[in-house]
Amino acid sequence: MNSYDVAIIGSGPGGYVAAIRCAQLGMKTAIIEKYSVLGGTCLNVGCIPSKALLDSSHHYEDAIKHFEEHGIDIPGDVKVNLKQMIARKQSVVDQTTGGIDYLMKKNKIDVYQGLGSFKDATHILIKGEKEEEIEAKNIIIATGSKPSNLPFINIDKERIITSTEALKLTEIPKHLIVIGGGVIGLELGQVYKRLGADVTVIEYMDRIIPTMDAGLSKELNKVLKKQKFKINASHKVKSVERKGDEVIVKADNKKGEEVEFKGDYCLVSVGRRPYTEGLNAEAAGVKLTERGQIEVNDNLQTNVSNIYAIGDVVKGAMLAHKASEEGSFVAEVIAGQKPHINYNLIPGVVYTWPEVASVGKTEEQLKEAGVEYKTGQFPMRALGRSRASMDLDGFVKILADKNTDEVLGVHMVGARAADMIAEAVVAMEYKASAEDISRMSHAHPTFAEATKEAALAATEDRALHI
Ligand code: FAD
Ligand code: NAD
Repeated sequence: MNSYDVAIIGSGPGGYVAAIRCAQLGMKTAIIEKYSVLGGTCLNVGCIPSKALLDSSHHYEDAIKHFEEHGIDIPGDVKVNLKQMIARKQSVVDQTTGGIDYLMKKNKIDVYQGLGSFKDATHILIKGEKEEEIEAKNIIIATGSKPSNLPFINIDKERIITSTEALKLTEIPKHLIVIGGGVIGLELGQVYKRLGADVTVIEYMDRIIPTMDAGLSKELNKVLKKQKFKINASHKVKSVERKGDEVIVKADNKKGEEVEFKGDYCLVSVGRRPYTEGLNAEAAGVKLTERGQIEVNDNLQTNVSNIYAIGDVVKGAMLAHKASEEGSFVAEVIAGQKPHINYNLIPGVVYTWPEVASVGKTEEQLKEAGVEYKTGQFPMRALGRSRASMDLDGFVKILADKNTDEVLGVHMVGARAADMIAEAVVAMEYKASAEDISRMSHAHPTFAEATKEAALAATEDRALHI
């Protein structure tokens, strides 16, 4: 039987990063993945394929809506070739997952393909083409998550679908009904909206992206409505029924009246749930929380001292970069180091266009905590860079402590906000004040100038270009 210092179950951005970091730290490492392709949700059916389709559909939208104004005439009609779009997406996924195979080899990590299940706290059975058993001093559970569902919905994977199916449709829906106005619903909703579908979003809470700063929800809602999304907040879905090629969704609106939506596809995107099926955690004595997550302490250690858990299967944001941070963290804990993760500074991004990005506390959280804060906000439309590319929507908002000027939260909607948020993360990691950011030179013309201007506005209300 092969024996390891560390065995990792699951090869998503949590598991494969943990494996690399363990190997870097000199540990003999194995990784177990039930699918034949490494990379987990993120690389195969999550971050990477969704961004590939967002990019392709963005190009199409530019071609049909903006090229003429830019002075680019295309002879003949611009058409979508969905088959090619999906094939390109798959080739991006294949290249990316192939990169993980290379990294495993480079770092001399043994890869086992098969379902990993605990035999006891130091032995794992692997059921793949053959059955194997390995032994490990330390085990990291990185089994990720799967889409959640509502109890009354039968996801048939044809017309009533999750994100996984939405990434490989063979036709453009005429009318896509999206249940859940969160990240997946809006990103994939926007893909098909750009390609020509009508998109109706049904959200249970009183606003889309309800966990983000309310200012971001309001701005994104405005922009999406301009893009002809139909958004129904405060709607409680009651039933989803398929009749041939039609899907009928019934919901109660805010007044308690029944509203009916008819479409040809329905995307159920109401969150994701931790995935532990087949893991046989009980055999190792590992405790789960009431919500089905693996219970961990601040060191991401389970109640069994040599078993750790990371990523979507534990508490916290279900984000690839959070999973990866935890992967490195746990490897360093096992190696006896004292690493740290600042969970307050894990940024959140929605890759719609304009993008939405956020780090630190929201206004709602600061109000609830009774923190005295000041706000500096700057609209993207006031930037020369925004006019050059016709990306006028959005703003950057900086929340700073009223007394110390320390930046407590940065929230933005706008072109390339996903990349711009990194500046805010660095600033907050070093406990910058709004004035610190306002005094740093920002290249001109860039979208990032909005961050400097918002910082100026937060400092003493002295934005320059408004
Ligand atoms: P996962 O990536 O889910 O990997 C877990 C792996 O474990 C899987 O490969 C699974 O097969 C394997 N596994 C499970 N049980 C076993 C077992 N018993 N034995 C062997 N193997 C097992 N996050 C972002 O930060 N940015 C984004 O842009 C983004 N976009 C997304 C888009 C979509 C459509 C979706 C669905 C998710 C997106 N996410 C995004 C979320 C991101 O994918 C997850 O947060 C991330 O993948 C979690 O990583 P993980 O390593 O914890 O788990
Ligand atoms: P989410 O939590 O972002 O959104 C789910 C939405 O569904 C919420 O707004 C919620 O209020 C709503 N909802 C819940 N129950 C409902 C009901 N009965 N009727 C109507 N609406 C209901 O979840 P998601 O969009 O499914 O994404 C799952 C996870 O994947 C998220 O945790 C997210 O972090 C991650 N993800 C991240 C990215 C990114 O970082 N860009 C992209 C996609 C997914």
